[in-house]
Amino acid sequence: MTPAVNPAMTSLVAHAPGRVNLIGDHTDYAGGLALPMAIDLGTTIIGHRGGDQLRLHSEQFRTAMMEALPIMDTQIEPIWARYVAAVATDMRLSLGFDGTITSTLPLGAGLSSSASLEIAVALALGFDGTPMELALLAQRSEFAAVGVPCGLLDQFACAFGRDGHALLIDFTASSIEPVLMPENLEIIVVHSGVERTLAGSAYSERRAACETAASIIGELPTCAIGDVDAISDPVVRRRARHVITECERVREGAHALRSDDGAGFGSLMIESHASLRNDFEVSTPEVDDLVARLISIPGVHGARMTGAGFGGCVVAACKPGAIPEPTSITGRGWKVQAAGPARVEMLEV
Ligand code: ADP
Ligand code: MG
Repeated sequence: MTPAVNPAMTSLVAHAPGRVNLIGDHTDYAGGLALPMAIDLGTTIIGHRGGDQLRLHSEQFRTAMMEALPIMDTQIEPIWARYVAAVATDMRLSLGFDGTITSTLPLGAGLSSSASLEIAVALALGFDGTPMELALLAQRSEFAAVGVPCGLLDQFACAFGRDGHALLIDFTASSIEPVLMPENLEIIVVHSGVERTLAGSAYSERRAACETAASIIGELPTCAIGDVDAISDPVVRRRARHVITECERVREGAHALRSDDGAGFGSLMIESHASLRNDFEVSTPEVDDLVARLISIPGVHGARMTGAGFGGCVVAACKPGAIPEPTSITGRGWKVQAAGPARVEMLEV
């Protein structure tokens, strides 16, 4: 279905949050479980619809794109504009737009600036479907733009965010259950300083290993841990073990949050990081060191890499005030709150 585009020439502000994944990484494309939350850092687009050109300036990159409609090619310059072109192509955009993109997210750091961009762009350009259609559009656009066969974790979190809540997502059922964040739990995100590249072949390799494992023992989220013994390749076996155990940790993690058990949640985060490091092999020494450093701070319940890995950010769950200055750890850090979904606001002109 092609989403309808509002033809009115209007000034507007579109905003899409980023997300932090609290637990459950590399489970989305395997049909498993994850527990992210949309955050109060995100992408904002200000501009107006009209004309027959798509013109957007990115304040982060200090470059602009200018394409005549209809856009048929996603492989354009600057590279960041490929996400925009992919969204516009998918929407079959016929009405132009002129505006500016700003972001409070670190880019390429595992807080999902790409899904946030795709979703903010879609709303700015006049996307008029359901949040589910919006998330699917963003997933297709990510693949069209940069060839990453990503799952739906980032796009779901961004499109379905709920103020004050994490989201328990089941990617087989496509169900999303809000989980109230305990008041006495602070979520801190710290940048490891290592820039990650999701588009690298490692992501596709991990996904392929999970598909191989599923072809041997069945859909991984439905498997018991003992089932992995039937996989002869030791690498594929470890990848499968991560997905199976991670889904169980997500289940237990949602229960811990609902029970106001910050310490229990923190232990699960630490186990999750060990599994991502040892079985899934998507961490880096710098990220491991940062996790170790954070969990040695009194009042920090747990910490883990967040997102696809290979660098980027670490997330910690703490007692309030345990890390009073998140920037003090590596120079780049944030205290984040669970935020609402992407939205667009039409302004009076
Ligand atoms: P993540 O989604 O974890 O931040 P990705 O590598 O998936 O990392 O996406 C980062 C890319 O998304 C950037 O390199 C850029 O191409 C694009 N992007 C995100 N935010 C912006 C922005 N504000 N302006 C332009 N491009 C952006
Ligand atoms: Mg991304």
